[in-house]
Amino acid sequence: MKEEKKKIMKKIIKKILKKITPKKIIDLYKKNKVNKKRKARLKIKLQPRNLLKFEVHLADHCNLNCVGCNHFSPLAEHIFLDIESFRRDCERISKLSERKIGELYLLGGEPLLHPNINEILNIVGQNFDTHNTGIVTNGVLLFKMTDDFWKCCKENKIKIIITRYPINLDFTAVEKNAGAYNVQLEYFGNTREITRFMDKIPLDLEGRQNALKNFRLCGKSNNCITLKDGKLYTCSLAPHINHFNKYFNKNLQVSESDYIDIYKANSISEILLFLTRAIPFCRYCKIKELTGGIKWAVTKKEISEWV
Ligand code: SF4
Ligand code: SF4
Repeated sequence: MKEEKKKIMKKIIKKILKKITPKKIIDLYKKNKVNKKRKARLKIKLQPRNLLKFEVHLADHCNLNCVGCNHFSPLAEHIFLDIESFRRDCERISKLSERKIGELYLLGGEPLLHPNINEILNIVGQNFDTHNTGIVTNGVLLFKMTDDFWKCCKENKIKIIITRYPINLDFTAVEKNAGAYNVQLEYFGNTREITRFMDKIPLDLEGRQNALKNFRLCGKSNNCITLKDGKLYTCSLAPHINHFNKYFNKNLQVSESDYIDIYKANSISEILLFLTRAIPFCRYCKIKELTGGIKWAVTKKEISEWV
């Protein structure tokens, strides 16, 4: 009887081994690796950050107008960051965080469009002790920036981060200029490679998605933390959806539960904890349908680019 059992077991093991091809082993290994990475990311986003990192639009509109831009810049009217309100917000965050923040990105839209960008750079320098502050730009206007701009970047320890798009720009002169002023210049994602695909998070106009699951899967949650008018949002979508709503006459709602008011928060830890939680707005994102992106082109401003 024992022998009989052994034979059956051998047969079963043989069958199983036949099915496990080297390709399947590699796939399993890769899957395991991806899962580990996902788990690590999840752990980070569900735990409060040690230091606040955030980004802010200097201009909601842009001079490039990429297809499906997930800051909705091609749909935005010409709106610039209000200097005095930004000064107040920085002073408040600086007070709460005792001047210590992790990273700060000045972007948009196209940040270099702001007519008083130098003043904004000074406000940042006056309020925070960080070497991780950068202007994220498509680079088009870098060729026209004044000496004062470069000096301001240097004095306030602000670096330039260029995202390269498939447009004809030779950055050699800009690199030289940055070098001459001792300003750090980087390429987004640490690569000089050209961005040929745009990330697309398709929107569910009815808001029927699972907010909690979306938040956990999303690469933007507790990562692309956005400051807008004294409020901090866990990502960049909710604070800028107003442009999409207005342009396409839609009503994706943003409520008081989608952000934390920096003037009502009592401490930086309260803010950091808030940012680890899903917001009701997450119900509008179809994170599971996130694709490899859409091929870069100039937008036609069709709703299909965003849904
Ligand atoms: S350059 Fe950036 S902000 Fe401007 S439209 Fe393209 S993706 Fe949007
Ligand atoms: S709303 Fe939520 S799911 Fe959508 S991009 Fe922001 S964090 Fe991600």
